[in-house]
Amino acid sequence: MPRIMKIANLLKIILAAFLYYTGISQLILSILVRIKPTHLILMYHRINSDNNGIFEGVNIAIFKEQIKLLKKYFMMTTLSEFIYSNVNSRNSYAIITFDDGYKDVYSRVFPVLKEHSVPATVFLATGAVDNNDVIWTDKLNLIKSIDESMRINIKNRLKRLTNTAKDKELVSLLLKYKVDLSSIPESEKMLSWEEVLSMAGEGIDFGAHTVNHSILSKVNKEEARKEIVDSKRRIEFIIDRPIATFCYPNGQPEDFDESTKQILKQSGFKCAVTAIEGKVKKGDDYFSLRRISLANRPPSLVVLKLIKEMLKDA
Ligand SMILES: [Zn+2]
Repeated sequence: MPRIMKIANLLKIILAAFLYYTGISQLILSILVRIKPTHLILMYHRINSDNNGIFEGVNIAIFKEQIKLLKKYFMMTTLSEFIYSNVNSRNSYAIITFDDGYKDVYSRVFPVLKEHSVPATVFLATGAVDNNDVIWTDKLNLIKSIDESMRINIKNRLKRLTNTAKDKELVSLLLKYKVDLSSIPESEKMLSWEEVLSMAGEGIDFGAHTVNHSILSKVNKEEARKEIVDSKRRIEFIIDRPIATFCYPNGQPEDFDESTKQILKQSGFKCAVTAIEGKVKKGDDYFSLRRISLANRPPSLVVLKLIKEMLKDA
């Protein structure tokens, strides 16, 4: 980062802390949630503790602070409850979502959510849950001997392949770079169905995220349909209740299209979330809902980010 950017960043952190600890930014946020009702869908993936995870994530201590802060100012609900009941509410809602279904949702997140009575929605890539595996993008992250730009190039190339071709490529890449998948600790893998079941009755809502984490606009229509329908049916079979929410793998505008949305609607989904940054706006297409990532921001910076988001034009 250039020196001037570093100084600007430091000044922002100091200003945010001043506004937060004097109560100024918190007062502004508390007024905004009342006079300008805003709904935010928060996007999380992994939650780590003390950087001991082999994949990057939000630190659990910071996550706890973020949950306490959101609960202080927003009504908290699950995505399906929100779509069915609260979308036109005059209250401000925050919806916590987790992509992929990592085991830390059960081991680290679930106790925090229970302690604070905060519901959440978890999107499962069902193939990885079935096979006690990690999703294919994480397998690429395990190749340590290539640089980031090469990793992105490989990822982009694999995104365009059918599942069979992608699996074949992955196997040869992992062999070539001597990645030992059996060395991944259980704690870094995905949820088990037992863990999913034990959370399902306790305020955690589940949504589908395909079977193989396939990029739906890049595979053919039949494969996309299978990924969508099979993941929905698998979760419904396990938790014995209808699944109404979906999350697009990768979630950028180029990763889904009108045909994907059509399949989702025909399969009985009521909404789908993206990884495109932003709040829920009036008149939004329920099949391309935006989300906000708070990443590892401390409460002082979270409050500023929320204020900024709420002041953007509807
Ligand atoms: Zn994902």
